[in-house]
Amino acid sequence: MINSLNDRVILNNGTQIPGLGLGVFQIPDEATSKVVADGIKAGYRLIDTAQIYGNEAGTGEGIRLGLKETGLERDDLFVTSKVWNDHLTYDQTIDAFYDSLQKLGLDYLDLYLIHWPGDNAFKESYRALESLYKAGKIKAIGVSNFEIHHLEELEKFADVVPVIDQVESHPRLNQDKLRAYAATKGIKIQAWSPLMQGQILKDDSLKKIADKYQKSVAQVILRWDIQRDVLLAVKSVRPERMASNADVFDFTLDKTDMAQINAMNQDFRVGPEPDDFDF
Ligand code: NDP
Repeated sequence: MINSLNDRVILNNGTQIPGLGLGVFQIPDEATSKVVADGIKAGYRLIDTAQIYGNEAGTGEGIRLGLKETGLERDDLFVTSKVWNDHLTYDQTIDAFYDSLQKLGLDYLDLYLIHWPGDNAFKESYRALESLYKAGKIKAIGVSNFEIHHLEELEKFADVVPVIDQVESHPRLNQDKLRAYAATKGIKIQAWSPLMQGQILKDDSLKKIADKYQKSVAQVILRWDIQRDVLLAVKSVRPERMASNADVFDFTLDKTDMAQINAMNQDFRVGPEPDDFDF
């Protein structure tokens, strides 16, 4: 289990990923540079962006600024991006990757993901990821929003096992079945919208648990994920929230509280259902 923002978890291909990272979804490009630099200064080592977020240029600028201000090296960071649904042919994926790399101003990515499975349309795209991986342009490849049946389909043709499946997960969507399945394949789950985009932070039962540990609801949720071995990308544009979301290494939820949070599952999503996502 990770004990700091700097702590890394070993993935199935030997690469190491920081367990708790900063996401930049819904941040305008021009605002992203400051957010990313603030995140690096606050100790975040993983930055999660995507082609569709439209802020890879700002992310790259923020990385350069953050590295300059902290004296860190590129290798100290872990940068993830994702190929969007309208780029799922082999050539489109290769083009999207190099476009992302250029916007970010980087010469490699730590992790590149297929953003959504679409209608099982990911075969060519995954082949492109595999060839970029084998060429050393990406340290690890993975998927996002894949359900068990998508992972089963992928397994039929993939040479390289994805290192992670990044999916929506929070107390109302604990993803226990997917997690158990992925574990048998050596695939880690990384939660997106772990705070349910802020919509779960006033929940009474979570508030009670938070009071018991003198922590915030956000801290309790992130701690729950860390203790159940779920990797995290959490977003905030505010340095004080970035700091507080990272202040989750000085307490341990007991078994009863872990079980109580797990029992809040309703299979409720704030984002789209992967099987019905029509785009
Ligand atoms: P989160 O669950 O991380 O919630 C972010 C929201 O919560 C923001 O409105 C933020 O506001 C607020 N917030 C953050 N911390 C606190 C706090 N301590 N107290 C109160 N409010 C808080 O949602 P996201 O959807 O952003 O998910 C996280 C990341 O996951 C994304 O940024 C992205 O990188 C990734 N993602 C991936 C997807 C995929 O399909 N693969 C889909 C969606 C997200 P403020 O910024 O004002 O602090």
